Amino acid sequence: MKIILKSKKIKTLKGISASVGIALGPVFIVENEKPLVVLKQKCSSVKDEIDRLTSALLAAQNKVLEQKNTMINTLSSEELELYDAYLEILKDPELKANTIGYIQEKKCKVDFALQQITSKFIYDLESLDDPYLSARAQDIRMLNRMLVNILQGREEPDIRLTSPSILVAESLSTSQLAGINTSQILGVVTAKGGRTDHIAILLKSMGIPALIGIGKAISMLKSNSFIILDCNQSELLLNPIQKIVLKYELLKKKQVLDFEKQIEFSQSKATTLSGKELSVCANVGAVEDMQKAFQFGADGVGLFRTEMCFLESTNFPDEEIHFQKYNAILKEFPNALHTIRLLDFGSDKPLIYLKNKIEENPALGSRALRLGFEYYKELLKPQLRALLRLSQLYNIQLLCPMIADLEDLIEIKDKINLEYNQLIKEGFEIREVPSIGIMVEIPNIALQPEALVKEADFFSFGTNDLAQFLMAADRTNDRVAHYLPRAKASLLFLIENFTKVAHIEGKKVSICGELASDEECLSTFIRIGIDSLSMPPNLIPGIKKAIRNSP
Ligand code: PEP
Ligand code: MG
Repeated sequence: MKIILKSKKIKTLKGISASVGIALGPVFIVENEKPLVVLKQKCSSVKDEIDRLTSALLAAQNKVLEQKNTMINTLSSEELELYDAYLEILKDPELKANTIGYIQEKKCKVDFALQQITSKFIYDLESLDDPYLSARAQDIRMLNRMLVNILQGREEPDIRLTSPSILVAESLSTSQLAGINTSQILGVVTAKGGRTDHIAILLKSMGIPALIGIGKAISMLKSNSFIILDCNQSELLLNPIQKIVLKYELLKKKQVLDFEKQIEFSQSKATTLSGKELSVCANVGAVEDMQKAFQFGADGVGLFRTEMCFLESTNFPDEEIHFQKYNAILKEFPNALHTIRLLDFGSDKPLIYLKNKIEENPALGSRALRLGFEYYKELLKPQLRALLRLSQLYNIQLLCPMIADLEDLIEIKDKINLEYNQLIKEGFEIREVPSIGIMVEIPNIALQPEALVKEADFFSFGTNDLAQFLMAADRTNDRVAHYLPRAKASLLFLIENFTKVAHIEGKKVSICGELASDEECLSTFIRIGIDSLSMPPNLIPGIKKAIRNSP
């Protein structure tokens, strides 16, 4: 991090741009959130647990009333109604009765019972596909966190945004972001984190400008102070004078106009000046991403990060939940070819309900498919069954993350075939097993395409993980973040070599890591004949334009 003095007062802080764009607004400081851990534990007295529930519900009501009182002079009467909605939920007799019923039946502790009951409420509301009810689901999620914290005696920082702000945090977790009203987030600044960790990827796909890894300089940002975030230049400006503010406001407007123009041309396929076609697909993980993929002219979905659907889950999702979640997203772009990646949990996307499985080196540990094999019945099997059923409704191909060698590939193919045969036996009508491709993100795979090209149907380069393994630099650690861009030459070398071998076998190669949207690499991708690039939807129009201008 460098601090450059621009004038007497204006300071410019440099960081890593995780998501481009400009934001102007007041700072909102986010205190770090601790993960919510609720384990299934037997209780010694059902009556005591019911008493604890009654007290926690009362304490939460008092807390909400307190919050309402503090905001009474800041919010309009309409906005204050939100607190009444919270109170209504906390006083809901069904919530209380169902939780008591669960405690009595399972003889478990109240926090676990509450978690189970609210998860079901949330699921039911979200499945109705109504924006109002989804917002209520968010409210219940937030209130559940409040209640569990009261029960566990923990103080939680408040991150409800009531007006448009730039979030400033030491670090931000994906689940934290899921609990915030994102329409109020103008931009994000963090002290820690790397450009390719998942929170950065999420912000990028949401089109929220983000500057990360600014380190200790974060302490210079004070609550409510006005800042300018220029993520196109990887910097932020403190104490900007009026003239500078006006300049950035104009720049921001111009970028919005440019983007609108690009979208107009983005609906058709992009072809270079010499007539080469290159598909530009979308990376998605939520309904909003899929809506943008459709709107911004994606040629298909190159990476559906399924784990993003379950970051807030407190238990293994079952087959039906998998089915409903994916269906709700896929139906936003029903005719596309969807490359759906099997769950890629672990490392910086931990499963909070596997708390006792903390590892020393999670990036090299039991993550992605390895975790899926370890918890096959609970994690991978329900997902495979749901995806195979969905393959009857949509054009789906399956993408396997973190394949390390041929053995891994054979194991997952066997499992997919096994579940397919089982479903057929059960009477499901599924024409055929979808195409099975692999992420090329472990050097052992990238280095020996010959060993796998015959066995997989297609390949997708995960340059985020591949770069971290090639450079031995954790992608979530801002202290080594500067190593990752230095992997570019090796990445391009490996991609070129792999593509040559794959094309001889008639197999397609795609790139779905962050490198896919790096315009500096575009001429190389075109030269080596990459079949498709996949990226956050909002980057598609710009890349299509660049392809059209390429020789
Ligand atoms: C990658 O590793 O490049 C990739 C696309 O997957 P993820 O970022 O989800 O790990
Ligand atoms: Mg990866």
